Amino acid sequence: MKITALRLYHVAPRWQFLAIDTDEGITGWGEPVLEGQAETVATAVKSFESLLLGKNPLNINAIWQTLYAGGFYRGGPILMSAISGIDQALWDIKGKYLSQPVYELLGGKVRDKMKTYTWVGGDDPSDEIAQIETLVEAGWDTFKLNGCGKLKFLDSHRSIDAVVERIAEIRSHFGNKIDFGLDFHGRVSMPMAKVLLHELTSYRPLFIEEPVLPEFSGYYSTLSQSTSIPLAAGERTFCRHDVKTILEAGGLAILQPDISHAGGITEGIKIASMADCYNVGLAPHCPLGPIALSACLTVDFISPNAVLQEQSMGIHYNQGADLLDYILNKEDFIITDGYIKPLDKPGLGVVIDEDKVIDAARIPPNWKNPIWYHEDGCFAEW
Ligand SMILES: [Mg+2]
Repeated sequence: MKITALRLYHVAPRWQFLAIDTDEGITGWGEPVLEGQAETVATAVKSFESLLLGKNPLNINAIWQTLYAGGFYRGGPILMSAISGIDQALWDIKGKYLSQPVYELLGGKVRDKMKTYTWVGGDDPSDEIAQIETLVEAGWDTFKLNGCGKLKFLDSHRSIDAVVERIAEIRSHFGNKIDFGLDFHGRVSMPMAKVLLHELTSYRPLFIEEPVLPEFSGYYSTLSQSTSIPLAAGERTFCRHDVKTILEAGGLAILQPDISHAGGITEGIKIASMADCYNVGLAPHCPLGPIALSACLTVDFISPNAVLQEQSMGIHYNQGADLLDYILNKEDFIITDGYIKPLDKPGLGVVIDEDKVIDAARIPPNWKNPIWYHEDGCFAEW
């Protein structure tokens, strides 16, 4: 079998699909994208084309290594997101060729269903409580909320109180009937993270995500000693070498690699095993589309330390299209009481509505992350 063509589709809301065609008529799909940088990743995918055309797509490990190391300069968000989408498409081809779901090719499942959570957008507690009530009625019990909005390096007690009161209101309304993680999104400085972790501990968040920016991951250990809240991070890591440094420094309870940014399934299973060696749980980051989610689930279903899976259904970023809009087998993605079953069709188990993807790509989205400033005009982390 030989790879004959690569086709890229940049589609709403902010996703990018890659089709890899073969001379045997099998097409594999992946999601090479970095949110807000889809065109840059598309250029990186195209730069790999000469290393892919004419190659046997079943030789995933050899192709991966060539893409990763063959350019001398390696790693980073752009190149690794390109490799991730290519890797996902190659696994999809291999599974379809062997008529097996990819998790079967990796040794088989360790669980029958995977726990997922859903996002609750906004920062008004009464609105968030209403949203959560609707979701609880639909069977959800685990959520993620933004921990705070803009926060200054050294912010006032008024700002800290506003953050704490919002979380207190949600916790007191639901008691222990729900669990929620709080995403600090790298908005919080080390000094303010210490304060917030201390103040929020009694409201028992399931985890605090990106308590400080990833470049300060060396402080996770110090922060973890000041709270019983599990700390989570990892969506801005791009290969096992990034993860190695973080795991060795300690402090993380949950690692959140993005299987569309951190080298795909091939690298994702290695990262999952490395986390397991440090008794760190896995909760892959996935505010992306159905192929990215399937790639995450593939890693989850073969990894004993996978604890939670993010998914983007109804997420506030999904303007113009939602998780199931580009697929034909929507019934396979049904989430019951927060659990999703393995996608059991061959390959990644995602049946792409190709006409719809081609049509949507005619008007590509232009999603960029918001740029925030503090009141003094200085840049603020989003
Ligand atoms: Mg996050």
